[in-house]
Amino acid sequence: MKTPSGLNTRCVHAAHAPEPVTGALAEPIYLSTTFERDADGGYPRGYRYSREGTPNRSALESCVAALEGGIGAVAFASGLAANMAVLDLLAAGERLVAPLEGYYGSLKQFAAVSRSRGATLEVADFRDPAAIEAAVAGGARLLWAESPTNPLLNIVDLKRAAALAHAAGALLVCDNTFATPVCQRPFDLGADLVIHSATKYLGGHSDVLGGIVAVREDAALLERLRAWQQMAGSPLAPFDCWLLRRSIATLALRVRAQCCGALEVARFLAAHPAVERVFYPGLESHPAHALAAAQMPGGFGAMLSVCIAGGREVAMRVAARTRLFTRATSLGGVESLVEHRASIEGPGTRAPDNLLRLSIGIEEPADLLEDLGQALA
Ligand code: PLP
Repeated sequence: MKTPSGLNTRCVHAAHAPEPVTGALAEPIYLSTTFERDADGGYPRGYRYSREGTPNRSALESCVAALEGGIGAVAFASGLAANMAVLDLLAAGERLVAPLEGYYGSLKQFAAVSRSRGATLEVADFRDPAAIEAAVAGGARLLWAESPTNPLLNIVDLKRAAALAHAAGALLVCDNTFATPVCQRPFDLGADLVIHSATKYLGGHSDVLGGIVAVREDAALLERLRAWQQMAGSPLAPFDCWLLRRSIATLALRVRAQCCGALEVARFLAAHPAVERVFYPGLESHPAHALAAAQMPGGFGAMLSVCIAGGREVAMRVAARTRLFTRATSLGGVESLVEHRASIEGPGTRAPDNLLRLSIGIEEPADLLEDLGQALA
């Protein structure tokens, strides 16, 4: 069947149909670890052993591939497990070019993995294409971008990054966790691999941990990632795949509502006297607003960060006073969260001490503004 083009339609229907035996609309959860062989020893139904593949995992992987516009996807037990599958492409002596700022867990992983593999890690300020160009000069295996970044909401010019990566013989990997395929489709901009912490918006309800890598067009690369999924033995369990596929049905509805809420919150905070600075690419004042508008046609995302006037203690007090926003790490769920980022990241953090990161949920924006207003008062 031709993949339908409307985003909500794809979220509902991609790799989803009534179950043929019973007609059940909700996909059954196939817990079986093993599958029957035919009399001739073959596996004509496509499944053999659940580490290699399960119907729920196939459905999730095909769905995410359809949303991102790639040839396939491979699901893992967490976002960092998905990162590891891609980092396995790095051989000794090869170069990984990574951003100065981004999710701190990924940055730590890059340093540890490149060290243990004898690969070179080159770090650059990805806000500046000239810095990326200098970092890939002489060749690289992977150029790893995150846009917008966690937690400073920096924007990387993905089209430029793809051109620079390809000229250097590298693959462009894009962590699309913050943007989701609703706001940004990195494959359309030239990325080779797209990564998600599915724990965030794909899951959307703060109740499942997962990661997924989608591949734009290289079938051999897809096979290599599948081989790692087998070797590392870290695929995603059937129930978690089911939860994610179920949640993706409402992905576009949720994310679009969250983006609208985030823009309202960002504007409110930008005009508030107790706020020093707001980091949100949807604000005209963001240094890369025009670039974000061009490469995020579906919206600017629902993550923002804010520096509170008066320093760390005042910021902590504001977080402590919120009633609707829950103080918790993570993001992308239906409920709004607030987090003092520097204390989560610890030593070496690039987050200012007075920075709070907000994940905007699907609550009524007016209620969120009221809550923030009383917390800042
Ligand atoms: N990428 C980004 C941008 C993230 O924010 C996170 C986690 O917060 C990850 C990757 C890692 O994902 P996970 O926690 O599912 O391993």
